Amino acid sequence: MGQELTLHGEVARFDAGFTEVAPGTWAYMQPNGGLGESNAGLIFEGEHVMFVDSLWDNMLTGKMLEDARGIVDAAPETLFNTHSDGDHVWGNQLFTGARIISTTTAKNLMTLDPPKSLRAMQLGGNLIGAIGRVPLPFIGRRDYGNLPRLPLTHMGNEMAPFDWSDINLTLPQETFDDAMTIEVGSRRVELIEVGPAHTMGDAVAWVPDARVCFAADVLFIGGTPIMWAGPIASWIAALEKISSLGAEKFVPGHGPVCTQNEVDLVRDYFEWVTAEGISQLDRGIAPAKAARKLLLSREFENLPWASWDDPARLVVTLSTEQFRRNGGAGQLGGAARSRVITLMQLASTALGRKRAKAA
Ligand SMILES: [Zn+2]
Repeated sequence: MGQELTLHGEVARFDAGFTEVAPGTWAYMQPNGGLGESNAGLIFEGEHVMFVDSLWDNMLTGKMLEDARGIVDAAPETLFNTHSDGDHVWGNQLFTGARIISTTTAKNLMTLDPPKSLRAMQLGGNLIGAIGRVPLPFIGRRDYGNLPRLPLTHMGNEMAPFDWSDINLTLPQETFDDAMTIEVGSRRVELIEVGPAHTMGDAVAWVPDARVCFAADVLFIGGTPIMWAGPIASWIAALEKISSLGAEKFVPGHGPVCTQNEVDLVRDYFEWVTAEGISQLDRGIAPAKAARKLLLSREFENLPWASWDDPARLVVTLSTEQFRRNGGAGQLGGAARSRVITLMQLASTALGRKRAKAA
């Protein structure tokens, strides 16, 4: 039997598709939880069906809805978007007839990064990637030093598995602030706003009868968290909030289903970023430089999160922290956002080289 591959072509570290977390409470998994490999949730009783998040495109979301019919053959009544990122929202249009709900802040953010702009970036990345593959005689033997072409090629590859050509951005019709209760038949689902953390409008779904928390992108498991809103203290507060629910299982936005132990480890990571990263910002060191210093240090290799995917996301997290310290309102956006992504790719290139050398 062949090994299952992820959307990005890596060997899957956990099973894809629906997995039952508790009775009538399922997680839809996309290993390994990398870019766009987001999870979703299915909560039902009888004919009453609620989803937590759609996926990044219509093909992926359509497949999820089809698989769901094998578990409960009824149309979704409710769709809850945990936050504004496309990989949790852009498949919304396939939930025809469902009430779609998010926090007010998340809904406002959904229009900021429309599918059109990311599609342009995807096409640009593909083009640059294609140029990179042209045989040497055509481009000469110039040494580009891998800068800055490689990061863009990398982004093109990262976006290649997704198809945004037919996205009709479908926004929630209902919004809430702070908290809201949803009824799924006689079951109760609590929507709880916990942001700003990963984004400005983060919320989670808590299912008390199943003791399951759909924590979305407040939790990255097996991959490094990426902070677009923060500050870090606020993300730690969000982790405290979900830790106080009494959940037996957590479904992260990216990565495998987990328990409180893994939530504690994410918290430890942010405590480490605070101690080692923010302390450098305090000394006037630039975020990207501070992050690279930490990631390339010998000590880093012995930390529990050294094995997490995409360690270079720390560049984004520290850049966001600095942005907030400088009085920046809301989350990193526009040109600042793409500049930071480029820096992150440069850092991951450096890290890749270091690891290749060490191997
Ligand atoms: Zn996500």
